[in-house]
Amino acid sequence: MEYFGRRVRGIVPYTAGEQPRDRRYVKLNTNENPYPPSPATLQVLRAFDGAALRYYPAPDADDLCAAIAEAEGVGRENVLCGNGSDEVLFLTFAAFFDESRGVCFPDITYSFYEVYAGFFGVPVAMVPLRADFTMDLAAMAKAECAGYYIANPNAPTGVGIPAERIAAFAASVPECIVIADEAYMDFYGQSCARLTSAHPNLLVVKTFSKSYSLAGIRCGYAIGNAALIGALRSMKDCMNSYPVDALCQAVCAAAVRDRAYHDETVARVVAERGRLRDALLALGFTVPESKANFLFAGRAAKSGKEIYTRLKEEGVLVRFWDKPVLRDFCRITVGTPEQNNKLLASLQHILFL
Ligand SMILES: *Cc1c(COP(=O)(O)O)cnc(C)c1O
Repeated sequence: MEYFGRRVRGIVPYTAGEQPRDRRYVKLNTNENPYPPSPATLQVLRAFDGAALRYYPAPDADDLCAAIAEAEGVGRENVLCGNGSDEVLFLTFAAFFDESRGVCFPDITYSFYEVYAGFFGVPVAMVPLRADFTMDLAAMAKAECAGYYIANPNAPTGVGIPAERIAAFAASVPECIVIADEAYMDFYGQSCARLTSAHPNLLVVKTFSKSYSLAGIRCGYAIGNAALIGALRSMKDCMNSYPVDALCQAVCAAAVRDRAYHDETVARVVAERGRLRDALLALGFTVPESKANFLFAGRAAKSGKEIYTRLKEEGVLVRFWDKPVLRDFCRITVGTPEQNNKLLASLQHILFL
């Protein structure tokens, strides 16, 4: 008997970072924000009218989209929300690509793009990063494809591209859709969101999971011209009319409207990012300059796996991938000053004792 459809056979799903419950780790492995979400979101949670949960939520999350549109400087018709930006990325594959409309992205980037391409049978052209981990946009522009996924800043390297360069790239490939995955953009401040009005082939995808400290509630969004957003909405309505639940809509709207808290926690992470990178360089690590809330660190004569394994024994969790290039590095989320000090003390111990 064969119970499975062709999509199940041979598919390699995305592997999320571990969320262990066996002991309390200093958890620097999944790029969560070390600070709690805005007090305004906690207020919304406490005041939430549970009885209202008997109604379906607003299918297009109107109030949340209005709050996002205002914060991002775009129109309400330029925003679509989903159940995490991973879902929004899934919708972009459904809307824009198919067996004859392939995609291009760097060989080292967010590994979900390849999973979605496999799921939808979309051909992939991969372009190697340069030796300094920057993206080779000139080589990418020459690829045979219908669109691009550009994580900016890139994962897991943290390397960023200025907004004008992304816009110029989009202008240079007018027949293609350019999807800028800005999951970590708030730690860089070079968003292309406002540039989408001048670039009809540019779509920006963002998330509440990182800079807003709301990974647990699952919300992400796309920003782009109304035609692209309309295509995404029709895909959404083929899959789930209500991907963003009522509680999520209210909490995320409060988070977006509390800019002061958001900007302050982002500034704290950015300050620690600089301090942590300097300390890792002093310990002999190679660390590309990061514009995100994590650092990509590798050290001669120590494999990423050894660093990862020894850190885990010391109660510090970082991310490691057993793949070419990546296996010489670990990805380390920037934590609080105390968490980062614990990481550095453990590394000191591992390397020199
Ligand atoms: C974390 C991340 C996402 C997904 O975030 P969600 O939690 O699904 O909103 C998307 N892209 C990149 C590059 C990420 O690192």
